[in-house]
Amino acid sequence: MKKGSHHKPESINKMSESHKGHEVTLEQRRKQSEASMGEKNHFYNKHHTKKSKREISESKKGTKASVETKIRMSKSHKGHEVSLQTRQKISNGNKGEKHYNFGKHLPEDQKRKISESTKGEKSHMFGTHLSDITKGKISKTHKGIPLSENHKRKLSEGSMGEKNHFYKKKHKSKSKLKMAEYRRGKKMPLEIKLKISESLKGEKSHLWKGGISFEPYGLEFNKELREQIRARDNYCCQECNKYESELFSKNGKPERLSVHHINYIKTDCRPTNLISLCKKCHCKTNFNREYWTAHFQKKILTLGGDKNGKTRLEL
Ligand SMILES: [Zn+2]
Repeated sequence: MKKGSHHKPESINKMSESHKGHEVTLEQRRKQSEASMGEKNHFYNKHHTKKSKREISESKKGTKASVETKIRMSKSHKGHEVSLQTRQKISNGNKGEKHYNFGKHLPEDQKRKISESTKGEKSHMFGTHLSDITKGKISKTHKGIPLSENHKRKLSEGSMGEKNHFYKKKHKSKSKLKMAEYRRGKKMPLEIKLKISESLKGEKSHLWKGGISFEPYGLEFNKELREQIRARDNYCCQECNKYESELFSKNGKPERLSVHHINYIKTDCRPTNLISLCKKCHCKTNFNREYWTAHFQKKILTLGGDKNGKTRLEL
């Protein structure tokens, strides 16, 4: 063929007809491929005009590559490293306003449909696990990018209560050991320690109950009173009924009974507000304060008492 000349449409058709069913050998294909590589390609150093790009785009709209074609494309791309520059270009071309979804909002029911259709087993990620390398890569690209408050709230809500992947599960004692071992010898950076400490201070603590624990003990709550309460309670934990003589600390030292303020008000040192508890039971009272208050208030009324109706509480 002479340079610049073109086949007539009908002869192209004829050629196509006559080629149908003919298997092209690998060798032939390689030759064809080589003949249009680099400088030899008729499109070498040329670019599509914006107009023709649009036209190509239009003509491709709505057409889908067959599965076979997709597999072929995938195969031919495998192993090809996309250069950082190219990746950057692709990324930039999809950012913000350029993103094909920019400014588009799906109706709620469509969003729900998409969400439903990609949940659990239907998700393309179901059952797959990311390799550590991939996880590391994702982590790296996210580092230093602050999450919006909204995003943080959503993440937090998504793993609360029943939604938490650890809901109603417990660590096996084996994994507990592993975690302990992992932490052992690892020093927590000061920065993290301070963060944890800050996050547990005062109002943020789940033990926080309005600051009553900072109220000073009533002046009357001295050694003598505590001793009187212990004696009143027969030197016996009023919750688990263990005697003080049976209580020992971890390192084997004898342990005293604690004297607990039933309503948690530490200046309220009326004997009816004080009760003897072992350390273990006293610890429990840090949670469910309302429950324990009612529990011990009921208990203290039935404590002891003699025939004359005088309770042991009246020391
Ligand atoms: Zn006890």
